[in-house]
Amino acid sequence: MCVSPCRPIRGMGTSDMGVEEIKRSSRQLRGTLDQELSQPKACFSEESNLLLKFHGAYQQDDRDERIERVKAKQDPAYIVMVRAKIPGGHLTAEQYLRLNRLAVELANGTLRLTSRQCVQFHGVLKCNLRSLIARLNREARITTFGACGDVARNVCATSAPLDTPAHRDAQALAVEITQALFPNREPYFEIWLNGAQLKSGTPAAPDPLYGDAYLPRKFKTGILVPPRNDVDIHTHDLGLVSHAPEGTVEGYTVLAGGGMGMDHGKAATYPHLARPVAYARRERVVEVARALLTVFRDWGDRTNRKHARLKYLVAEKGVPWLREQIQARLSFRLEDPRPFAVSTVADPHGWNAQGDGRFFYGLHVETGRIQDAGDRRLRTGLREIVERFRCPLRITANTSLLFCDLKAEDRAPLDALLKEHGIPLPETYSRARGMSMCCVALPTCGLALSESERVFGGLWDRLDSLLVEFGLEREPILLRMTGCPNGCARPYNADIALVGRGAGKYSLFLGGSQKGDRLAGLVQRSVALEDIPNALRPYLQRFARERADGETFSDWWGRTFTHVPAPHPSQFHEELERRLARPTVPTIEAP
Ligand code: SF4
Repeated sequence: MCVSPCRPIRGMGTSDMGVEEIKRSSRQLRGTLDQELSQPKACFSEESNLLLKFHGAYQQDDRDERIERVKAKQDPAYIVMVRAKIPGGHLTAEQYLRLNRLAVELANGTLRLTSRQCVQFHGVLKCNLRSLIARLNREARITTFGACGDVARNVCATSAPLDTPAHRDAQALAVEITQALFPNREPYFEIWLNGAQLKSGTPAAPDPLYGDAYLPRKFKTGILVPPRNDVDIHTHDLGLVSHAPEGTVEGYTVLAGGGMGMDHGKAATYPHLARPVAYARRERVVEVARALLTVFRDWGDRTNRKHARLKYLVAEKGVPWLREQIQARLSFRLEDPRPFAVSTVADPHGWNAQGDGRFFYGLHVETGRIQDAGDRRLRTGLREIVERFRCPLRITANTSLLFCDLKAEDRAPLDALLKEHGIPLPETYSRARGMSMCCVALPTCGLALSESERVFGGLWDRLDSLLVEFGLEREPILLRMTGCPNGCARPYNADIALVGRGAGKYSLFLGGSQKGDRLAGLVQRSVALEDIPNALRPYLQRFARERADGETFSDWWGRTFTHVPAPHPSQFHEELERRLARPTVPTIEAP
């Protein structure tokens, strides 16, 4: 049992310079984690809590219980979130079944798919943490190292299992980059698998790639096979776009500086879309990824974590500066970026041909949460599907699941299993609902200001009625929701973004794009959850009335409202204030 008292979680906080010092003195991320894991306390020290993130785990508390526990003078209900790192979202059937079993045995019985193709375990007790991570490694061959923390995060890649060289290469490259950007894994193996090898207090050499202070913040990579923009390529620190003109992959266009997080009303923080920087031949791409990571390592802001992402370097110093910095670290000449076009960020749902005589089935997992709830027995149903067909899976960056390598004769039994377990089929909900995404938020995320996952289904039931009313149920309208402005579900480039700002209140952003290549603008600072359908009604109504043949909501918005040039990212907040004061979006009378 985890029993001993801990200090309250809300009292924990480390200055930005303190974070840098903890990393530097951590002896390659060991700190005192090994010792603290062996202690009966229910929580970690402040220092270990920070280092734990690099190992793929966050200490949290159950926020539903906070107030009652404070009143009763009890410690917070400590729990840990554990994130499994899954390059390209690729899982074998055996790995999926193992994840499912571990969720039941050592977590809260659910799995949470993430917007970076990972799987999260929630509600893990500290006393079960070592066992969970060890079994993930030993039984499923899945690591958690670098799933969180100031290092290269899980590498996203186009997930559709199409039988083309470009699609196969995207998945292979995700694994190559993952391997190339790992910090030294010895400390991880020591702590979680083998027991401590390096005595407490013994100094360790700096990490060969990351140095002793790792990165200023996280570093995210996405790999895309156009045109389907399923990895949301403009939102990564490093975006790689495949070019395979004759069917063979020749190289990748390199984009840099994407990132979603910001703070409400703080002008120094803003979302930013990645910009094309260069082109590299296939055999050179991993070197470019390492070079960009080290530019960020050396130039990123280590005095202010709110300003520490690569996007601020790109926005403030510019693309030519960044390219020079990358070039200086390479032994070959970078080429100019090549043009590419993207279509939609949406995943392919339902039955699709792979091109090799087999099929894949795409299932939208609303909220990303795999659990049994009432008649909707998603976790049981998915387990039975994987047990029966032994199919590999892909997790998409939109929290869908793709069941791969299926035969034509699998279709009827798979459809029957979905129905039997009350799992909604794509034809039963709106197209917009099937594209949408939300973050976890309450009760586990310590940063959440508002609900997200727990109110998402109810909100969609009301929005679906609205879409039906205007005949828009098959329209690809991209809506994303988060419980705070950190942007885990990538809200700011969606057609419609709802960003939590307080209990039951959301900022409403409109005017991104279902292609993911345009930022939205703030149109209402605070909307109550129950008023969201009313706030959207006039725009949907006007779109239904004015749209040209085949025009999407994104196209219509672009034609109607975004005739002024986009502001420089550093003026993002200024622009938002200007729009609020003098809306570019005309007020439309409610019917
Ligand atoms: Fe938590 Fe905010 Fe991320 Fe949502 S967007 S999971 S509330 S940090």
